[in-house]
Amino acid sequence: MTDSNQDTDATQNLTDGFHLVIDALKLNDLNTMYTVPGIPITDLGRMAQAEGMRVISFRHEQHAGYAAAIAGYLTKKPGVCVTVSAPGFLNGLTALAHATTNCWPMILISGSSEREIVDLQQGDYEEMDQLAVAKTLCKAAFRVLNAEDIGVGIARAYRAAVSGRPGGVYLDLPAKLFAQVMDAEEGAKSLIKVVDPSPAHIPAPAAIDRALDVLKCAKKPLIILGKGAAYAQADDAVRSFVEKSGSPYIAMSMAKGLLPDDHPQYAGAARSLVLKEADTVMLIGARLNWLLGHGKGKQWGEPGSKKFIHIDIDPREMDSNQPIAAPLVGDIESCLGALLDGMGDSWPTPPAEWMAAIREKVETNVARMAPRLQNNNVPMDFHGALGALKAIIKENPETILVNEGANTLDFARSIIDMYKPRKRLDVGTWGVMGIGMGSAIAAAVETGNPVIAVEGDSAFGFSGMEIETICRYQLPVCVVVFNNSGIYRGTDANPTGGADPAPTVFTKDARYDWMIKAFHGVGVNATSPDELSQAVKEAIASGKPTLINAVINPEAGTESGRIGNLNPQSVVSKKK
Ligand code: ADP
Ligand code: MG
Repeated sequence: MTDSNQDTDATQNLTDGFHLVIDALKLNDLNTMYTVPGIPITDLGRMAQAEGMRVISFRHEQHAGYAAAIAGYLTKKPGVCVTVSAPGFLNGLTALAHATTNCWPMILISGSSEREIVDLQQGDYEEMDQLAVAKTLCKAAFRVLNAEDIGVGIARAYRAAVSGRPGGVYLDLPAKLFAQVMDAEEGAKSLIKVVDPSPAHIPAPAAIDRALDVLKCAKKPLIILGKGAAYAQADDAVRSFVEKSGSPYIAMSMAKGLLPDDHPQYAGAARSLVLKEADTVMLIGARLNWLLGHGKGKQWGEPGSKKFIHIDIDPREMDSNQPIAAPLVGDIESCLGALLDGMGDSWPTPPAEWMAAIREKVETNVARMAPRLQNNNVPMDFHGALGALKAIIKENPETILVNEGANTLDFARSIIDMYKPRKRLDVGTWGVMGIGMGSAIAAAVETGNPVIAVEGDSAFGFSGMEIETICRYQLPVCVVVFNNSGIYRGTDANPTGGADPAPTVFTKDARYDWMIKAFHGVGVNATSPDELSQAVKEAIASGKPTLINAVINPEAGTESGRIGNLNPQSVVSKKK
């Protein structure tokens, strides 16, 4: 053997922190990384790509993070976001907190500065005690100091993210770790492939009986499907249970399409009626949080008039807002399977008057809305523009709809029907602006389906630079910017008469479509519903990155959309 051969042999027997991180991720089928390169993780991305991982490189960590969060929602595996230290970590942290709030699995891996210097606060490059910061904002946080512990670190992060109620996990990897060297065989042995990362939670038989007793006595039942039910990917069980129960149901925003929105039991268009009148409400993977008015107030009818049955994987969710008559703790598939078994073959259908009253309300409301959706006004209003998009989603039900904004969100949620599970991705539990491009990118990467992102002009601004990412990776994403020249509306004026514009208005006659042309994508200016429809159809057919500037009347839109009631009101009017 020559000397140089001996050298080669020596290096072949070694591995290092970089490779162990990549090998541990791949061993657990975590094959995609959403990232922004930089110190100390630049080579991690390069090597991950060389080792066959899909590495999607963003322009800002927050959007890489939102992509990882939605990847977790879509796949039931943690989406992985990798960032640089301090500022990059903080940018990613918003998304990690968002994932945790929404109960989606995600792992944020951030490089960090050296412990010895950080802990003595000696002013290292990007010095920050990231682990301490992350802890309060996610489900779990770990740090790995030794290469031989990387396997354990990834395994713990994976389990913490997906088991029980899913959430975000932070994994702190100090720069020195990546270059640590160890024997390759020992390294391979140190990795862990997690077995059954999200074990079934079987509900107690007594809890099933209790829930069925309550449901059987209902005169006016209502089922509410939430995004936890969509996440669970128990689509057949959800459908069988809803249909066997015969109960009307409504779907929370991201649960739309779990059963098709044109299902005869769907009461979405009679939402006010069913919330007010139901005597028994069954929550399936939906929390009684602000999005449901905490289960009280005028929209819920007489106080104390309802019994709640609640299916959730997290026992602490029970009674969080209202007393739960029948708590059912377990995973949705196991709970619904046990309920279906317990219902037998002759489950009574809900009283006919209840069903008829709902049907009538649905039909009246749908008929009243129909002509507004067909208007071809120029400039467009929300209804005309969304009427065009509604027809396109109906023809292309596999399309993933990403949606954010204020009015753009509220109107699209109620106007655009969804037909398939997990096809509607939006602002989630926080109602956060800025999820748009990250969600659209992950949706395209994880599913390969066409994606339409319907964005308010304000919402789009938070992540707009990522259209370069969409173009660079040639993703089948069509962004539709509902451009009404402002936040809520484009008509506010500066009350002082000064030169500065009002804080809620944007540049008049802005051309968002020109932005994407800088990156060789397709840009279209659409001034009518017909033009909009045409442009979206072409985008879906071509699969080319497209941005449509949909010109909406600046007078269309209301303050804060449908949640204007959350704005504090000043009682003092200042007079000069
Ligand atoms: P929405 O906003 O659509 O109402 P939420 O995010 O409020 O939905 O609620 C989702 C709920 O689903 C959370 O309380 C979460 O614990 C629960 N959940 C998530 N995955 C599962 C699962 N596999 N089985 C049961 N519950 C789940
Ligand atoms: Mg706007």
